[in-house]
Amino acid sequence: MNKIYSNQGYLLDMCEDLPLEAVTHKFFRILNEIPNEESLDPKWLDLWNKLNPYKNSIPIEELNHIEKKLNLIKIVDDEIFDIKIGNDIKITFLLGAGASAPSGIPTVNELLAKLWDRARKIGREDLDRLSDWCDRQGIDNIEDLLTAAYISNFAAKNNSVTLLLDYFIFSGRRISEEKIPTRRRRPIGNSEIDVSSISFLQDTLQTLFGLLTSTMISAAPNTTHKAIVNFLQHHNNASIITTNYDGCMDETILKANMKLIKSIAGENRDENETDAVELIKMHGSINWAYCDSCQDVREFDLLRLKDIFENDELSFPVMGICKNCGGLRRPLLVPPLSFKFLMFPNLIDIWNSARQSIETADYIIVIGYSFAEADTYITKIVSRSMSKNRNQKIIIVDTNIKLVPALRKRFSAQIDEFDERRILKACESCDQILPKILKSLISEHQP
Ligand SMILES: [Zn+2]
Repeated sequence: MNKIYSNQGYLLDMCEDLPLEAVTHKFFRILNEIPNEESLDPKWLDLWNKLNPYKNSIPIEELNHIEKKLNLIKIVDDEIFDIKIGNDIKITFLLGAGASAPSGIPTVNELLAKLWDRARKIGREDLDRLSDWCDRQGIDNIEDLLTAAYISNFAAKNNSVTLLLDYFIFSGRRISEEKIPTRRRRPIGNSEIDVSSISFLQDTLQTLFGLLTSTMISAAPNTTHKAIVNFLQHHNNASIITTNYDGCMDETILKANMKLIKSIAGENRDENETDAVELIKMHGSINWAYCDSCQDVREFDLLRLKDIFENDELSFPVMGICKNCGGLRRPLLVPPLSFKFLMFPNLIDIWNSARQSIETADYIIVIGYSFAEADTYITKIVSRSMSKNRNQKIIIVDTNIKLVPALRKRFSAQIDEFDERRILKACESCDQILPKILKSLISEHQP
């Protein structure tokens, strides 16, 4: 009854060799080849998640049938439901893109493809060229693109940095210095950096931010956000860290008439507001802006912004004018770079709050956050915190079946005598499983 037959391995291998679009097309038929009485390999869930960008093409009856069948794969550690907490127990939520996915916001891996689709509709030849190039190079991650754009933007303004980048990245593969004619060894002047490429870069960033923001501003919160707010109403010893730019979490909190502790630098932090919720947005937010010239950071009323956008009363300002100095205001959205604090000094306080929030937690509940390589800062503070506080536990809510084994392996390598059972997994869609977990945590607490 509970056996997984080897035929599934064969089918999975076959899918691995096909383009995702083709797999989407055949997914229903492939899944139907597996007898109903046979348990499904959890890898099907993994594959299904990868098909997200193409799922629109699946007929609704087939889609329902697939979801129903995949829902039978439940991989949740039973220990999670044994945990009962009192208000002395501190909970820190860590939200990643997966928490917003049920709201229709594409995850990092789906985002770039969707943005290129929309960019093509705008009919910009230069953007089309960039998207074709990314396609050919296999670049499909928007955070890589944003990171490269930020670095290029910085390097283009700093000639010696450009030269050093050139040296560090390419010198090994080039002919030796002696063979380069002397005239080519002299530094490249600013005039030799293609000015049009800089303005294209700025322009591209702006267009991508525009498309990104318009996707996020109209997204509605999902059951995940509602479950967290419901939990906070019963248990206020908690804080939320998110790497998402969208306003789903903020909106749910505000609409439940709860207050938010203002987290960005320059805003007054009222420590007396004990009932206020600490929401730490590590990578910025669609309603935050910073000024290039005077470094002023502003947070705008999210609900008002959403309202104005929905009713089309004003265009959403991707770029604005700074009231302080008349300079250019940009959206404060940060790609996950380990050196991001060098570029966004205003976020240092926020990252410090996140570190504190993680270090003081008894349980860290991680929802749809992938511990990506680029995001070394968060992984490091979690690892350090787990190392210092031997009683701290993590509950991972994520559909990626490979995440928990990888994390257990990573922490075992970094922390002496690490007990792998300190990481508990709930490998199911967060909007399905999180409400059950949070309800169970605060039910029938035994002292
Ligand atoms: Zn300014």
